[in-house]
Parts: sequence; C-alpha cells; structure tokens
Amino acid sequence: MRHKVIAGNWKMNKVLSEADQFAESVTGKLPKDDNVEAIVCAPFPFLPSLVEKAKGSRLKVGAQNMHFEESGAYTGEVSPMMLEDLGVTHVVIGHSERREQFAETDESVNKKVHAAFNHGLTPIVCVGETLEQREANETMSHIERQVRTGLKKLSDEQIGTLMIAYEPIWAIGTGKTASSSDADQVCSLIRRVVKDMTSENIAEQIIIQYGGSVKPANIDELLEQPDIDGALVGGASLDPDSFLQLVEAGT
Ligand code: 13P
Repeated sequence: MRHKVIAGNWKMNKVLSEADQFAESVTGKLPKDDNVEAIVCAPFPFLPSLVEKAKGSRLKVGAQNMHFEESGAYTGEVSPMMLEDLGVTHVVIGHSERREQFAETDESVNKKVHAAFNHGLTPIVCVGETLEQREANETMSHIERQVRTGLKKLSDEQIGTLMIAYEPIWAIGTGKTASSSDADQVCSLIRRVVKDMTSENIAEQIIIQYGGSVKPANIDELLEQPDIDGALVGGASLDPDSFLQLVEAGT
C-alpha cells in the first residue's frame, strides 16, 4: 500500500525569516501518521536553516533544482554534492518552469535524476503537457516520452524509489485544476509506462503526485483517485496553515 506525499514547491518566494517562521509553525503540528510524508522544496539560501529547524520533526526538506555535475566551472549553479552535504533529502527535477524558462530537456532531466541517486537524493521528476498539446490530443504521447527519457538507464530499484509529479502546465498557478478523473487518467498512464519499463511490483510502489492549483478545497477529491498518491503544491504551500491542511488530508 502506497503512502501519500505532500510536497510544497515554494518557487522563488519568501525571505529567510519567513522560511524560518514557516518551519517553526509547522514542524510541531505535522501528523504523526506514517501514511503521509511532508516535504518542503525551498530556494537554496533557506535550505541550511530549514534542514536545521526540521531536525527531529517529520518535515523533510528538498531543493527545487540542481546541476548534474558534482563540481566545476558552472557559475551560479548548485551541485548534488552540496545538497547532500546540507542534509537535503529531495530535489524537484524538470519542473515545467525550468523546462520552459531555462531550456531544460528530457535529456538534462535524465542526467539530473542519475546525479540525484548518486548523492542519495530522492528526485521528484516533473512531467506535464501544454494546453496546445492537450487540445491536439498529444497528452499521452508527450507524457510517455517525458517519462521514458527522463528515467532512462535507471535500475528498477531506483525507479521504485523516485517520485513523479504530473503537472499539466495549463493548470499551474492558473486556478484551473485538471478534473480529478482527468488527472488520475494521466497518472494511471504514467504507472503503466513505469510497469512497462520495470515490473508490476515497481509500478505499484512508485509515488505519483498531481500538481497544478492544488489547495485545501480540492485535495480530498484528488487524493481519492486510485493513481494519485499526493500533490506537488505551489501557491497553497506557502502558508503554514494551508500546508498543514494539505498534509492532514493525506492521513
Ligand atoms: P500551483 O500550485 O501554484 O498551481 O503550482 C503548481 C506547481 O507548479 C508545483 O510545482
């Protein structure tokens, strides 16, 4: 039986004092239930402090991106080794905003996923279609390609431990959520692709999240779907109360 995972993606929001306040207000209030995992993926400058504040609590701390190389002449980049050293446990890879605005490709996503595993980080791999692709009936082929290329040359065991977030691009930050059954249909396709790449056991094990305008008002319906195991949440993860409500919904 899969557990639920609620991951906040703060994107480029907050300053350090606000990040600290967030951690102080949520760490003591997270449900003790093992059936739900709570992760906050924060901007790099907040990570050391968040990791410190999350110690001994059920809050896990993730990054929103990283380079695939360990070190070198990559001005402005952050490496997987640095994240591992900080005690970060998760990393969002291939978010649509990075694919669109920072030219990330399925190939670079794949390199980053391998690098994450080499440094003990759990990747949260994002996939999703544009509105044009959806309207042209290309959603399924596009998602399948993203999954197959993004997860290329990983072992079955690695695939079983990573997370995939299905985020339709047209639903991000727009207030438009995919209907829970539409979202579930794509998540179920992802699981079928994973089964084809690995085995039934691995496909049953992998965590698949939905992301795109998730909030306390729609989380229950999404989590009721058979193939949706959690959510990757932008805007609604910034407020501690709303984040706690989302996590609570996973219990
Ligand atoms: P919103 O929840 O703000 O729509 O953002 C979704 C997202 O991109 C999470 O990664």
